[in-house]
Amino acid sequence: MLEIDKMGKVLHPMVKDSISSHIEQGAMPVVKGIIVHQTDSSTASGTLSSYANPNANGAHFLIDKDGTIYQTASVFKKTYHVGRLRSRCLAEMTCEPAELKIAQKWDVAGTHKREMKKAVPERYPSNSDSIGIELVGKAYPVADKKAPPVFEAATPEQNSALKWLVRELRETLSVPLTEVYRHPVVSYKTPSEAESASW
Ligand SMILES: [Zn+2]
Repeated sequence: MLEIDKMGKVLHPMVKDSISSHIEQGAMPVVKGIIVHQTDSSTASGTLSSYANPNANGAHFLIDKDGTIYQTASVFKKTYHVGRLRSRCLAEMTCEPAELKIAQKWDVAGTHKREMKKAVPERYPSNSDSIGIELVGKAYPVADKKAPPVFEAATPEQNSALKWLVRELRETLSVPLTEVYRHPVVSYKTPSEAESASW
């Protein structure tokens, strides 16, 4: 169990305080899930300094390649780290026939709007109810120019820090293991983002 102060800051020697109010977007009363990301930057300092920008978006935690964990936003505040949700019933093949017909149409904005009328676990966790964890890692272009870039692998140090952080956050905030996702599973992102992350 993590000790969390009333501002939403984790009090633990393994978590460094680098909270930036610029990426915080209002209260998040309940946490339903955890989304794992990669930054598309090769250093932690690049990401941390970008969070000082007044219009910055980010997630709640950042894990450097050496496993150092930074807290970048209060766990009681929303951050914009997820984007538009995919249809969960379509991915899990549990849609009712009427919704299946609608969900199969390519309509990113409409799908997100429909999903947000549901509650987790009928939809994926969203900006409004999930913690985001970023791993420092860059996406590199591949030879096929039409193919999406490919993220570098998470380091063993990042994965052991991630494992610890996910376990502690899950225990402290009562998040089931089934509600922890890689970003491209829940939204429309580069497929290899966080592919090598494990928790
Ligand atoms: Zn992401």
